[in-house]
Amino acid sequence: MADCSLATRELLAQLVSFDTTSRNANLDLIAFIEDYLARHGISSLRVEHEPGRKANLLATIGPAVEGGTVLSGHTDVVPVDGQDWASDPFVLDERDGRLYGRGSADMKGFVAVALAMVPHFLESGLKRPIHLAFSCDEEIGCLGVRPLIRHMAKSLPRPAAVIIGEPTSMRVVNAHKTIHTYHTEVTGLEAHSANTHLGVNAVMVAGELLAEINRLAADMRERGDATGRFDPPFTTVHVGTIAGGTAKNIVPRHCAIAWEARFIPGADTDEVPARIAAKAQSLLPAMHTVSAETGISTRRTVEVPGLAPDDDSPAETLALALSQSNGTGAVSYATEGGLFQQAGYPTVICGPGSIEQAHKPDEFVEVDQLARCEAFMRRLARSMAS
Ligand SMILES: [Zn+2]
Repeated sequence: MADCSLATRELLAQLVSFDTTSRNANLDLIAFIEDYLARHGISSLRVEHEPGRKANLLATIGPAVEGGTVLSGHTDVVPVDGQDWASDPFVLDERDGRLYGRGSADMKGFVAVALAMVPHFLESGLKRPIHLAFSCDEEIGCLGVRPLIRHMAKSLPRPAAVIIGEPTSMRVVNAHKTIHTYHTEVTGLEAHSANTHLGVNAVMVAGELLAEINRLAADMRERGDATGRFDPPFTTVHVGTIAGGTAKNIVPRHCAIAWEARFIPGADTDEVPARIAAKAQSLLPAMHTVSAETGISTRRTVEVPGLAPDDDSPAETLALALSQSNGTGAVSYATEGGLFQQAGYPTVICGPGSIEQAHKPDEFVEVDQLARCEAFMRRLARSMAS
């Protein structure tokens, strides 16, 4: 087990101490990073996402020329609500070679290493730049990074590679699924439950839609994964929440379903909503014979594009060399990588810590993982200086 630097430890402790759960503002953390960079003579730019509350940060180390590498990390974390932690989630705690704290793996560990390496980057004589791109609102649908990428496309000398430091145990990942989330609303008609024929039961209509979602999920599972790279090896369809009804003896007027699909790259993403729309169409005539005011609507709430493998891309070649590995992996969680790729940037995912620990109580990153990430960054500096 290698040990990481004191600078990485201290920076991670600072980053973890800001409660940047996605529902909160992140400007205190952004100001902290700005100050840190400014002390090293690096100016940074805030790209606002929600004025006065949330911002992304972009900084360049080295010459403002093309061919650089973007180190991308998100600053927000998932909530700790209802989770049982052995220590305060916002105070970094070291036990047995592990650093515990919310965001230690996902993904303040990577951000801490990138910042700790800044003095090294500065003295490396970089011929091509290293860009730091830190985003907000990743955990609620990769929302914050979108204006950041638009800004980069307009004003940054074109980088050759983007490395997303999500926790992959420092393996190079070149593919992830596409996530689409949906909100379906059924509007029925209220009635006394003695007179079910005078109402339209929104919950029971929703039940028909749920059955169709179940069939869809089973069909997708059957179809499998032609690439053979994903775990689980199929497109998943899942209902997260359902809400409807007022009381046992009232025919419910309203029911809402929040659901999602995670598609294998290359899957037809229109098929899922089309099948639910067709099912809805088949239910409407019976509803409308009772009341024309009833209906079913579905809207897509979040779209996170998948990361498609781009074999031998400059990002893949670079990350494989820096991590001293020769194989790439695929993951089923989404990242900002798909959005960078959509904007034309060669992109891979590689970061310290394991996704196994992300989003859970007692989230931790191993000190050894941070040390490996530091070594990766030192090789990056050498590569950008040559
Ligand atoms: Zn993350």
